[in-house]
Amino acid sequence: MPTPRKTPAIHPDLESVMFTQAQIKKRVRGLGAELKKTYGNGEFTIVSIINGAVMFTADLMREIDNPVRLDCIRIASYGSRTKSVGTPEIVHSLNIDVAKRHVLLIDDILDTGKTITLVSGLIRKLNPASLHTCVLLDKQGRREVPFEADFVGFKIPDKFVVGYGLDFAERYRNLPCIGVLSARLQNSHEWS
Ligand code: 5GP
Ligand code: MG
Repeated sequence: MPTPRKTPAIHPDLESVMFTQAQIKKRVRGLGAELKKTYGNGEFTIVSIINGAVMFTADLMREIDNPVRLDCIRIASYGSRTKSVGTPEIVHSLNIDVAKRHVLLIDDILDTGKTITLVSGLIRKLNPASLHTCVLLDKQGRREVPFEADFVGFKIPDKFVVGYGLDFAERYRNLPCIGVLSARLQNSHEWS
């Protein structure tokens, strides 16, 4: 008799799963195709905002057969809070030259818009040939600075999500799905 297929158990710290591993994979593939339409076979330079965008960047890059260059930029914003407070700061900037290059800026999630506005401004000052932005998630309803990304994976409601690179106090980045962190943990003070 065939063994019944088990549905994978939801992580105990998640309230719900927003996107499964399979849904993410499918959408990332779709984004790769959208990028192809914009860039054709041309070379472009990816600037990834870490740590949050690591998984997304790594997977998206593998959906692209163009020649690409990669650099990462590190921004400090949240700490272990679940709401964006204050002004994001650049902690580690670019090492490669982006002047006259086609640049694709990648972030995990577009929330208030402050981070991507800051980093886009910095890149524009370096005179790239073009600048496009790509985010996996977009919390459109939370914008404080008007910003629309050129490529968006999923539009999501105002929920604090973790997994697939997104963290809470540096945890959960390794979850293969994206889920809503349970309210019990969001309000807990046991994190540092
Ligand atoms: P923004 O500057 O647009 O407010 O925030 C962007 C950054 O805030 C993202 O790169 C991400 O690190 C963090 N962020 C915003 N919303 C969420 C969320 O729901 N979950 C997690 N883990 N990080 C978030
Ligand atoms: Mg981030």
